[in-house]
Amino acid sequence: MTDVYDKAKRSAVMARVKSRDTGPERLLRKTLTALGARYRLQRQDLPGKPDLVMPGRKLAFFVHGCFWHGHDCARGSRVPKANRDYWLAKVVRNRARDLRAAQALTAAGWRVETIWECQMKDTEALKARLAAILAQAAARTPPANTPAKAL
Ligand SMILES: [Zn+2]
Repeated sequence: MTDVYDKAKRSAVMARVKSRDTGPERLLRKTLTALGARYRLQRQDLPGKPDLVMPGRKLAFFVHGCFWHGHDCARGSRVPKANRDYWLAKVVRNRARDLRAAQALTAAGWRVETIWECQMKDTEALKARLAAILAQAAARTPPANTPAKAL
């Protein structure tokens, strides 16, 4: 079978597939599953390609590495000494892209939740936060399987 992607695109796709299974994303999935949430992974058609979405609830989750996405925390401000300007410029670009994606998603009616890597160390706090997010989302949107009143 011929590859539909050219070489560069293919390696970008593969990098994303691999990055899907990083520790923080796996932990987010595990925690949501434990809370009984049903979700889908990486909707390529949505702005910013959220790491995880709950379409019925219109919830989009991003798991962000603190350095790469410029989190205002100890881990996020640790810039490598070599090629400092290069890394900083990259972080600025990522932040701008994240902001655009969040704005586009919000405009389309999605609620965007960003989970920072540093916030995942405390798994109990993460679980409590996700439970609160799910409860809020459930209050906003009726369950998708409610029978329609009239067809
Ligand atoms: Zn952080």
